[in-house]
Amino acid sequence: MTLPGEKRPLEKGNLAIVGLGPGHLEYIAPRALAVIGLADYVIGHATYLRPVEHLLEGKEVIRSSMGKEVDRAKNALELARSHAVVIVSGGDAGVYGMASIVLEVLERSGENIDLEIVPGITAANAAASRAGSPLSGDYATISLSNLLTPMEVIGKRLEAVFSVGIPVVLYNPKSRGRPHNLGIAIEHARRHLPAKTPVALVKNALRDGEETIITTLGEMDTVLDRVDMHTTVIIGGTESRIWRMNNNVRGIITPRGYHNKYVY
Ligand code: SAH
Repeated sequence: MTLPGEKRPLEKGNLAIVGLGPGHLEYIAPRALAVIGLADYVIGHATYLRPVEHLLEGKEVIRSSMGKEVDRAKNALELARSHAVVIVSGGDAGVYGMASIVLEVLERSGENIDLEIVPGITAANAAASRAGSPLSGDYATISLSNLLTPMEVIGKRLEAVFSVGIPVVLYNPKSRGRPHNLGIAIEHARRHLPAKTPVALVKNALRDGEETIITTLGEMDTVLDRVDMHTTVIIGGTESRIWRMNNNVRGIITPRGYHNKYVY
């Protein structure tokens, strides 16, 4: 039996699902680049393919648009019967990405197509690296997109994760179609966390147009207009704090607890 994550040459009749990380080429895993190099077909959203454009010469490239994920998955499978096919997602394909729908379509087809999944740096990690060390212990991620999950369910999840005081990473915080979901998330957070709780808004982490704002749960309303669909929002937990030096904000620290055990 071959498991989905197993590394093997990408050959005809094979499929790879590849995470392309946050954007800049240097944050893409070498294995992801190697697999793309071996592909006959590369399928993915045009924005994600831009950094690997130099690897696409001579390949069939299918640039798909958002909201057509099921068609994209079916198409990939169809082609993978006779070609080496790579389907890409931004960040990690298994985190609000293409991996699950491809696996579901494959499961339903009952076909025995070889599959490799190459992980990528997800937005939570990319954004955290720009904001200090806000996710040093347990944390949760919640997507505020209610395209596939009803808002009522998202609300329950928000209430649960904020109630235990761990840092929370909000993916898909805002878009034109759902401008109010971030406000709802902030209301849940404020029910459980003090106003001084650190918050990071990281837009376009590790790609062009990067911008990081560090603020607090109490003061974040003044910068909410800076949040868009290219932003990841990190709301600290009960132990998170802002690290300042000479009145400058250096980042967010969520201690892991070394101070309880060691002197430093
Ligand atoms: N599979 C992707 C997530 C897709 S959901 C991953 O693992 O990162 C899309 C959301 O991810 C965006 O709305 C935004 O919240 C976040 N995101 C993706 N790339 C980002 C980046 N470079 N900087 C900040 N946020 C990003």
